[in-house]
Amino acid sequence: MLPKPHAKEIDRKARMALPHQPVPKQDPSARIHNFDEVYLHYDLESATAEAKRCIQCPGAPCVKACPLHNDIPLALWQLEHGLVEEAAAVLRETSTMSEVCGRVCPQVIQCEGACIYVKKGKPAVAIGRLEAFVADYQTTHSGRDTTTAAATGHRAAVVGAGPAGLTVAQLLAKRGHSVTVFDVWPSGGGILRYGIPQFKMSHKVVEDLVGYTKKLGVEFVYDTKVGGDLTVDDLFKQGYEAVFLGVGAGVAADPKITGTDLKGIYNATPFLIRANVAEELRPPELKAPPEIGDRVVVIGGGDTAIDCLRTSVRLGAKEVTCVYRRTEAEMPGNEKDRALAKEEDVKFEWLTQPIRFIGDDNGNVSAMECRRMELGEPDESGRRRPVPIEGSEFTMSVDTVILALGYWPDPLMGETTPGLDTHDWGLISVDEETGRTSREGVYAGGDDVVGPSLVVTAVAHGRQAAEAMHEYLMQQE
Ligand SMILES: Cc1cc2nc3c(=O)[nH]c(=O)nc-3n(C[C@H](O)[C@H](O)[C@H](O)COP(=O)(O)OP(=O)(O)OC[C@H]3O[C@@H](n4cnc5c(N)ncnc54)[C@H](O)[C@@H]3O)c2cc1C
Repeated sequence: MLPKPHAKEIDRKARMALPHQPVPKQDPSARIHNFDEVYLHYDLESATAEAKRCIQCPGAPCVKACPLHNDIPLALWQLEHGLVEEAAAVLRETSTMSEVCGRVCPQVIQCEGACIYVKKGKPAVAIGRLEAFVADYQTTHSGRDTTTAAATGHRAAVVGAGPAGLTVAQLLAKRGHSVTVFDVWPSGGGILRYGIPQFKMSHKVVEDLVGYTKKLGVEFVYDTKVGGDLTVDDLFKQGYEAVFLGVGAGVAADPKITGTDLKGIYNATPFLIRANVAEELRPPELKAPPEIGDRVVVIGGGDTAIDCLRTSVRLGAKEVTCVYRRTEAEMPGNEKDRALAKEEDVKFEWLTQPIRFIGDDNGNVSAMECRRMELGEPDESGRRRPVPIEGSEFTMSVDTVILALGYWPDPLMGETTPGLDTHDWGLISVDEETGRTSREGVYAGGDDVVGPSLVVTAVAHGRQAAEAMHEYLMQQE
């Protein structure tokens, strides 16, 4: 491993003149016919050349902008010298899933958004794709480090095998604790598998991640609903001394309009699972693939909506339209993914709100009544509130509708765990520094604490909670 470079070793001017290495990606005309990852991978030569563009800024704004504070300049310094595994090791110091974050983090508003090149009107160093490159390289070459500390004899349960739960499981196992992960789905990964489509991130990445967690000695118990099949109290009775709750926020928001029970209307998560997850890993009620018509409308504007739109394109729909009640400027999802959707010929109806679904004689959705909106004063989220325009109603013909209106937390954990404080429809109340809840020995993090957020937020919460849980476990008899 090379130490951090001295300022004298870096010729900033010369570096800034180096050409950006574009990240290769599938052409839209080809990728709309497959579910393979859109972004192809750097080879060693182009990855090294791109890493050389980093000017090792004093104060490292990219590190500050990364929620995990990955030491990006140090990793890129290793990479530019061909020390790929060392680069991966630097990033893995702070990230439990570099291969995931490298692919799905919204880098434009994080590390890459803070890159000095952006201020100069040039493409940022491709930090995300370089992170994915070094992590993949390490996995294929020497493999990830599976060293764990000597067994402590302490046992922890993790509820939820999403990024928050997997992070806690990995970090506690590395400290020598015995860890069991419980999940209601038939396989691990949470939304990484049961949500994010494979054209953004291949399930091979998720399999490697879960496989690595198993190699650390973590056990997985699937098809088990905590709060249903067993409770948090039962886990303590079974001898677990600490419990982490990483159950996400998976309850779909209700559009509160008539006609949602018509055939051809899907909620986003079941739709994505049926379209993207291998049949053997789907629960029994989601075995059938989705039936998609020629004209598909997706309602919503976040990452989930964009993923549904792009999935519909790949399933062969002829006309795919996003209906969103504000304008593009207020859209919450990753702008890079939105640009890819546009390249894939997805259409957008801004400032439009559905008010009723209309069915044909066979109970299939055939049309959608909508009204136009205009932007009013900002609401509590700071975004301008959409206000209906009187008399602007119109009807759109549709064959398939996908509802991607956002998610709520499941209140189940609060309802079935005595002493666990929740707020705002079921979000779990925690100490922000440690993830400690009001119930002794119970910790929480990820979407079940903050509501729908990002993978990197879940990883950051998992890291904090694992540290606090380790301290707690070591104080137990
Ligand atoms: C379609 C979609 C696309 C997204 N795209 C991106 C993206 O591109 N980039 C990004 O950064 N973020 C994205 N996100 C958000 C990101 O995936 C989440 O913020 C992140 O997965 C949250 O992690 P988590 O571990 O808190 O919860 P989850 O990933 O939701 O995992 C929770 C796990 O808990 C399990 N569970 C729930 N209830 C119980 C129970 N009672 N008992 C046992 N197990 C239970 C679930 O089965 C699940 O496996 C996307 C989200 C969606 C829905």
